[in-house]
Amino acid sequence: MLDADFFRRWMTATAASVVREAERLTALDSPIGDADHGSNLQRGFTAVSAVLEKEAPQTPGAVLVLAGRQLISTVGGASGPLYGTLLRRTGKALGEADEVSEEEFARALRVGVDAVMQLGGAAPGDKTMIDALVPALDALDDGGFGAARAAAEQGAEATTPLQARKGRASYLGERSIGHQDPGATSSALLVAALAEVAE
Ligand code: ADP
Ligand code: MG
Ligand code: MG
Repeated sequence: MLDADFFRRWMTATAASVVREAERLTALDSPIGDADHGSNLQRGFTAVSAVLEKEAPQTPGAVLVLAGRQLISTVGGASGPLYGTLLRRTGKALGEADEVSEEEFARALRVGVDAVMQLGGAAPGDKTMIDALVPALDALDDGGFGAARAAAEQGAEATTPLQARKGRASYLGERSIGHQDPGATSSALLVAALAEVAE
């Protein structure tokens, strides 16, 4: 079973990983964006870690709802509302239980990813974070967190030959081809952090 502490550790591990990889995320956002993805997420997840420590929410759902709200209020770019929605809607779907099973979490995460697709209008293949998140969800159902991490990383790498159809990168048209999507890359970090804390 997964408790509030598991989800708090997931957020802290994501923050550490985003801080570590901030330069790479920003570099990926340079040719097909505005070179701020790393700094956006570093600011956002650092604020998430701080608010979780300060307010100490006691259920898995409350941890993710608070984290999502914090991202929405601290990250100005497209990724703030999108990641914020992912976490907030996943958290809401978890309800008020003190502990949740991996299966319950997988179902809630699907609700969160669906909400991101609704908000941003992106589908798989549009070269966005969705291209890492959807394969991770599918792998999670069959193989658990380790399989989800591998699928998310593969999904992120597979965005390179795609032409962007959503977000800033889509303004470049065919010139967006040949670059890995920064948001898919950070989504792979989010999923990898999940596998890390589950070990
Ligand atoms: P901004 O583009 O506002 O500077 P960021 O650089 O932080 O925001 O985030 C860019 C990432 O957000 C992209 O690489 C992409 O993965 C993701 N993204 C942008 N628009 C969408 C969308 N409509 N749906 C899903 N993901 C999106
Ligand atoms: Mg950007
Ligand atoms: Mg920006």
